[in-house]
Amino acid sequence: MSRLRVLTVSDVSALALEGGAERVLWEATRRLASAGHAVRILSRAPAGVAPRRAQREGVDIVATPPQRWSIVPRPSDAVRVPLDWGDWYALCPTCRNRTPIKGHSATLRCPRCAGLFQIAWEETDHP
Ligand SMILES: [Zn+2]
Repeated sequence: MSRLRVLTVSDVSALALEGGAERVLWEATRRLASAGHAVRILSRAPAGVAPRRAQREGVDIVATPPQRWSIVPRPSDAVRVPLDWGDWYALCPTCRNRTPIKGHSATLRCPRCAGLFQIAWEETDHP
């Protein structure tokens, strides 16, 4: 079989195997690399990790943290999100802190890490 060049783009990171999605990503790419293919993962960096490039078991991993606040719908069974935050909240791109959102400002400062980031309004169905 000829050697393939495989590029995987992922919203989860192969640098921190925190859950099932990360493990599936890692196992699939690791096995392709062990079969002799050239494999690269472009992914989100884990929370608090600077942009990074790493080689692991023949897989080239390029991880970049998100640069903007994500707007997240409040899960119906959320227990740690105060009810007075409403149906949506914002997720800090650096420290993953959750914070309430008011209005539609273009930027938001994180009350935990003090980072000032733009808000990714166009990535959501937020009214
Ligand atoms: Zn933060």
